[in-house]
Amino acid sequence: PQDTVDVIVVGSGGAGFSAAISAYDNDAKVIIIEKEPVIGGNAKLAAGGMNAAWTDQQKAKDITDSPELMYKDTMKGGRNLNDPALVKILTSHSKDSVNWMTAMGADLNDVGRMGGASANRAHRPTGGAGVGAHIVQVLYDNAVKRNIDIRMNTRGIEILKDDSGNVKGILVKGMYKGYYWVKADAVVLATGGFAKNNERVAKLDPKLKGFISTNQPGAVGDGLDVAENAGAALKDMQYIQAHPTLSVKGGVMVTEAVRGNGAILVNREGKRFVNEITTRDKASAAILGQTGKSAFLIFEDSVRKSLSKIDKYIGLGVAPSADTLVKLGKMEGIDGKALTETVARYNSLVASGKDTDFERPNLPRALNEGNYYAIEVTPGVHHTMGGVMIDTKAEVMDAKKQVIPGLYGAGEVTGGVHGANRLGGNAISDIVTFGRLAGEEAAKYSKKN
Ligand code: ADP
Repeated sequence: PQDTVDVIVVGSGGAGFSAAISAYDNDAKVIIIEKEPVIGGNAKLAAGGMNAAWTDQQKAKDITDSPELMYKDTMKGGRNLNDPALVKILTSHSKDSVNWMTAMGADLNDVGRMGGASANRAHRPTGGAGVGAHIVQVLYDNAVKRNIDIRMNTRGIEILKDDSGNVKGILVKGMYKGYYWVKADAVVLATGGFAKNNERVAKLDPKLKGFISTNQPGAVGDGLDVAENAGAALKDMQYIQAHPTLSVKGGVMVTEAVRGNGAILVNREGKRFVNEITTRDKASAAILGQTGKSAFLIFEDSVRKSLSKIDKYIGLGVAPSADTLVKLGKMEGIDGKALTETVARYNSLVASGKDTDFERPNLPRALNEGNYYAIEVTPGVHHTMGGVMIDTKAEVMDAKKQVIPGLYGAGEVTGGVHGANRLGGNAISDIVTFGRLAGEEAAKYSKKN
């Protein structure tokens, strides 16, 4: 081997950096390897917040919450298919994880509400923006402060084991150095999910064929193959979080409430094509069937005023507006004359109380007030819930639930924490808590060997 360390961390997202820092702080010599030319993985794209219960930040705002309530919400959100023991760790360590991050310099003072949460518990920087980018920056700065060796453009290829099946290192491929071994008694897999790999996604859930993804290009799941080749069991792989309306311009998920509150969906030809509030899979398939595989959410100021989230989309620049539908059509490449006729027709259906064109069950309001808006949307894959099976010490297990000695996993590469569906704000919480745990356990293990 070219290098010998105590702990190798594969992946430089939130889970990887948390693991590396915590292993270092538990007296381990650490290397992080990252296959991409940039750090941060998907973690740096996270926009929601870091869920945590009964923190000082919540107390300062008189928010009542508890780890038990966060546990209940997380299990319900995951359709009770989560691993209860892992959710217990996520929720009971959440406050500690926020404190760990703030002690390293993070600002998590703004506390907001995310879907599925019964309390405001999504912690984010003052002003509400970019929690993922902030967390990754703070973790990176702290890794640099500790002089942790971070190797970019270096892909983890194969876990090395001795004759008794104990992990002894990893075969990597560096962009310039080629193949070489790094020796260590413990490896932490923190390689993220596979939402960007549509072939893999569609094999597991055929309804998601052709979907784009909000994820970074490295999120293709090769870390899962490395894990499987080392004997790891994968679980919950079929649970993939998708959404019918991802903004094409900004890659953000546009909440269903925009349609629920009255927006219609039209194609480039300016025509409606589906009952806007049908199920997610049907809406997705209908949008993919349109010219350019995308469609436009069309609404005006009465819908905007009914939903404060819309101002966020406007602020992000993904919802351009104009004072007439013809102008809006010209800006966005929609047939403006047809669009004008479609909205007039829709308004007459609203007045009659019945959508005889597409059987839309709710017609909350006519679209005839003030400015008109268009958000171009297409279905997208957001998060993959499944992955390697871990126990409560973040040790990776095989199909017989036996621990693979020296192999640890944390973050989106693992399965079980989020069950069938992840709640917004729980990913950052997951990567910090389990990254930290994996790093600490890996460091302790390597000392014993
Ligand atoms: P998490 O949120 O769980 O920390 P991220 O997606 O943020 O996951 O980060 C995972 C990182 O791991 C990404 O930067 C990705 O490029 C990297 N990665 C994935 N597979 C490999 C691999 N085989 N070798 C090295 N790095 C990898």
